[in-house]
Amino acid sequence: MRVHNFSSGPAMLPFEVLEAAASELSDWRGSGMSVLEVSHRGKDFVACAAEAEALLREVMGIGDNYKVLFLQGGASGQFDAIPFNLTAAGDRVDFLNTGQWSAKAISAAKRQGLEVSVLADQADSKYTDTPAAGSFEVHPDAAYLHYTPNETIGGVEFGYIPESGSVPLVADMSSTILSRPIDVNRYGLIYAGAQKNMGPSGLCVVIVREDLLDKARPNTPSVWNYAAMAAADSMLNTPPTFGVYLLGKILQWVKDAGGLTAMADRNRAKAEALYGFIDASGYYSNPVATDSRSWMNVPFRQAKDELDKTFVAEATAAGLTNLAGHRSVGGMRASIYNAMPLEGVQALIDFMTDFERRNG
Ligand code: PMP
Repeated sequence: MRVHNFSSGPAMLPFEVLEAAASELSDWRGSGMSVLEVSHRGKDFVACAAEAEALLREVMGIGDNYKVLFLQGGASGQFDAIPFNLTAAGDRVDFLNTGQWSAKAISAAKRQGLEVSVLADQADSKYTDTPAAGSFEVHPDAAYLHYTPNETIGGVEFGYIPESGSVPLVADMSSTILSRPIDVNRYGLIYAGAQKNMGPSGLCVVIVREDLLDKARPNTPSVWNYAAMAAADSMLNTPPTFGVYLLGKILQWVKDAGGLTAMADRNRAKAEALYGFIDASGYYSNPVATDSRSWMNVPFRQAKDELDKTFVAEATAAGLTNLAGHRSVGGMRASIYNAMPLEGVQALIDFMTDFERRNG
């Protein structure tokens, strides 16, 4: 029996993808082995990784002037890897701070002795909004501008791509990648941990413009050195093979469903249903400014905070799991990534309606 899983990550995956992976787990492509057991340098896996990359390029519209890297160490690894690869000690870097993940990326840059400027600090609004477009000015000499298009904990999402002029724009897309079309050409570097919209944990995808490849500090860890990894087709060491394999399957699922435009339609409909219900209820609330509300992560509170544990327990019993808010903020949070169908959101709304009727 499958539940409606609202986990923020690792998150639910499309049922069809799980079934397809299960059906070929013990004998992959007639090899008599599972994909977990084959050499990453064998022709089958090399082809599998190439297919996943080609599909990612097709689905996201990634141009030939970008490298696609399949790395490990999660998005957190990139908080350190990006300064290693794109800066020299003492360089200036600009950040927008819209939540706890931005703040971690900022801390990592500070640890590397960079001159960090936080151009907009939404800690002032308790991370409930994004800075208005045009309200901050990027330093022309900055090595890059870093921002987090979707903050997974606060449920805060940019409705626009920040203007950074000729300064490379760097984005942590961990919890928004593949959720809607984006103009990759606006970015110098995009990175994302896979465990929300792209597959299992253990894989981190980096999409980097070629002109940014030759700036790494000499002491950059080689498994995070973009130029070295690009030259080795991400196989300087053993890649996270199962994650790359599953990414390919998920991208095929996205493509078959109509690509990122279809994902956007589906995600918009889910978000509108849930926020619409919360706003109309009078019992539940979401703290985020309407123009900054995430399509992927919807934090909410109820009028009676003391009932949070009851809410989560009863929801779990009703087959609606992982609804507790992040431990740092409390309340509840529904993560509704690509794989969550509208029926799952509707089941949550029905449960919330009933819970309010009984407790409101
Ligand atoms: N950035 C964002 C926006 C995230 O949501 C997360 C994980 N939830 C991370 C970074 C950290 O990712 P990882 O655990 O893969 O290091």
